[in-house]
Amino acid sequence: MVSLLDPVRLHADAAPRSVAIRGAREHISYEGLLESSLRFASILNAQGVAPGERVVLIAPSVPAYVVAYLGIQAAGCVVVPMNTMSTSEEVSYVLRDAQASLVIAWHEASAPARKAAAADGPPVVTLVHGMWEALPLAAPVDRDPDDTAAILYTSGTTGRPKGAELTVANILSAAQISVECSNGTPDDRIGTGLPLFHIFGQISVMMASLTTGSSLHLVAPFTPEAMIDAIRTHRLTIVAGVPTMWNAMLRSSKGEDGSGFGHIRLAVSGGAPLPAPVAQAFESRFGCELLEGYGLTETTSQGTFNGQGGIRKTGSAGRPVPRTAVEVRSETGSPLDPGEVGEVYISGPSVMKGYWRRPEATAQALVDGWLRTGDLGMVDQDGDLFIVDRLKDLIIRGGYNVYPGEVEEILYEHPHIVEAAVVGVPDEHYGQEVAAVIVLDRPAAVTGPEITAWARERMSAYKIPRLVRFVEALPKGPSGKILKRTIDTNRFRQPASQPEQA
Ligand code: ATP
Repeated sequence: MVSLLDPVRLHADAAPRSVAIRGAREHISYEGLLESSLRFASILNAQGVAPGERVVLIAPSVPAYVVAYLGIQAAGCVVVPMNTMSTSEEVSYVLRDAQASLVIAWHEASAPARKAAAADGPPVVTLVHGMWEALPLAAPVDRDPDDTAAILYTSGTTGRPKGAELTVANILSAAQISVECSNGTPDDRIGTGLPLFHIFGQISVMMASLTTGSSLHLVAPFTPEAMIDAIRTHRLTIVAGVPTMWNAMLRSSKGEDGSGFGHIRLAVSGGAPLPAPVAQAFESRFGCELLEGYGLTETTSQGTFNGQGGIRKTGSAGRPVPRTAVEVRSETGSPLDPGEVGEVYISGPSVMKGYWRRPEATAQALVDGWLRTGDLGMVDQDGDLFIVDRLKDLIIRGGYNVYPGEVEEILYEHPHIVEAAVVGVPDEHYGQEVAAVIVLDRPAAVTGPEITAWARERMSAYKIPRLVRFVEALPKGPSGKILKRTIDTNRFRQPASQPEQA
């Protein structure tokens, strides 16, 4: 029998007073975290929520989040983390789909959750730091390794979000794998601005830090200045984030001189492709390695990680993480040779159990124990994975495959381009035309035709973005990932002179 509290219990015995979680206002030790989680579990008992039932958790990345997350585990329930920015319709959808028995909502971010819960039924418990202090300690419920511990909703490729069911064993093994990839020790001080409701922050950072026994510093909400301050003040040794965060830190005047970063040994990037120019600039400014991992909600975070065993390849998402295998397969599912581009498949202990109450979607995604990722990639002769793009983002122009990530990577080398998203726009002649939505460092620093001409010098003719739009900001998801699916491709035909919203 196991529990997600096991690592916390271990460190509460070994180093009870060491800081487990530090937020902007409060911090909590390992001993305090264990005790608080058991007290929190008594709230669920008092509400009559039985083991196995689903509890929606909506809260920002504060120490109380971790207490509630582990408290739900201690009560033997299934946590369903949701984005604090969710609308009441989105909350309603998840409450119904997950058949949730209870909502736990942070006191400052609960209006949509309350509205949705009021309409749909389950009671709402308001989360405030320390609310558990006077409550009794609940007897922790141990779980079977294959019991579902969390359901994370993910859009995947199409349709409405599906709940990826992650078991206790999935999460414990994924956290252990992250520790091994970063060579974590209890002396590490890890900092992140990632949301804890997203798989990366929740497992590769929060659960990994608790597994190591290190202290986790939550920077919420993320701003590059707050992150840089945290690095300097708390002498952080590891930082974890998505590429847009590294980019933002590079552009902040606060970190310009690069001083005060002497303790950082590693920056871990994931969630989206890391453009090589961003990685290089970050490493030279902040003086630490910036290593990329690749994974999905469905793989409980990391599937591959660059830099394992000291081997590192620029532009690669690295090799399969311990106990995990990666294959690249053709459309018919047969394995491809090194260097050939196909769909990436992953198998290992952290591959999800399936999609909650979606047998058909599960059968499509899980094939003989392998997860079809929906990503295009290739493995080279050495076994290093290169993510080429998402299958659904692939542009086919006049019969030629254009991988948007490859074009974006080159655009990032342009001195005035801060961010770029390349998408396919319907075209009568070519089927699709290559288009770029671009954020410049200053308005009108360069024109669309100048970008096209610049690109012409650097890539094959069929890859050149012939349609260019400038915007003030690209649409981003909760984890900072650029949301290509919300870019309006109809607007490319209009000449754009002034920056607009994407
Ligand atoms: P949503 O955020 O709407 O739930 P999503 O498909 O982005 O949908 P996630 O599980 O958060 O869901 O992200 C997984 C996807 O992120 C992968 O399938 C891949 O496309 C992308 N990704 C993650 N890491 C990397 C990386 N290092 N390089 C390239 N792409 C990556």
